[in-house]
Amino acid sequence: MRLVLLGPPAAGKGTQAERLGARYGIPRLSTGDILRAAIAAQTPVGLAAKDIMARGALVPDEVVVAIIADLIDAPDAAQGFILDGFPRTVAQAEALARLLEERGLRLDAVVELKVDEGILIRRIESRIAQMRARGETLRADDDPEVLKSRLAAYRAQTAPLVAYYRGKRQLRSVDGMQPSEQVAAAVARILSKTGKPTRAKRRAAKARTKARKRRGKSARQAGPRRPQRRKPGTRKAARRKGRRG
Ligand code: ADP
Repeated sequence: MRLVLLGPPAAGKGTQAERLGARYGIPRLSTGDILRAAIAAQTPVGLAAKDIMARGALVPDEVVVAIIADLIDAPDAAQGFILDGFPRTVAQAEALARLLEERGLRLDAVVELKVDEGILIRRIESRIAQMRARGETLRADDDPEVLKSRLAAYRAQTAPLVAYYRGKRQLRSVDGMQPSEQVAAAVARILSKTGKPTRAKRRAAKARTKARKRRGKSARQAGPRRPQRRKPGTRKAARRKGRRG
């Protein structure tokens, strides 16, 4: 299972990614977590990203694309992964498509968590206030002002990905304002349908079975399916011939 979770900051991507990761036994790949770890370890990437993240802007594409390339190639991601916080720009989405194509892989789905921004801001502000009251350490960008910048970055640079993936017919949307369990159930329903044959393919398969039965052959006797040779428009002529012969 290879999945992208899309949605604004604090839409609940992290929570859902953790749940899904546990359910499918695949890792959650979060560029935000990797960047925060890089800042803590004071690596060159961390030093470059620190101020950008503190003001709620986006780290350059090439930095996060390099991080994701490494994560995708790690052995624990061999069976799949859930991308949380990546891609965040169309350029990142294109880079991801290239990375996957080079490896003969594809995304199973892109799930968008749809949320109401007004409610979201109030939700985050009250979460920040509660954490402060409990004396817990806040993230450098967990600040009502920075949050507004993060939302602005989302609107300008990340929201276009909704149209991008819709155009590729990969987008599925879920109401992210529901309680977390219900969001998880909705995502699970979507994922249970991915990879299943489309209605048209199911109908064609059914028609083939029916035709075979009419001819009185079992699937094995019928052998492998041959491509249809008949040219369009000659169906009637073929039927007429059949009746005569
Ligand atoms: P959230 O989704 O809660 O805003 P994340 O942990 O995903 O937070 O990201 C925090 C910050 O890390 C972002 O505001 C941005 O500065 C940086 N970041 C994370 N992922 C990316 C990315 N794919 N591209 C650019 N910057 C990123």
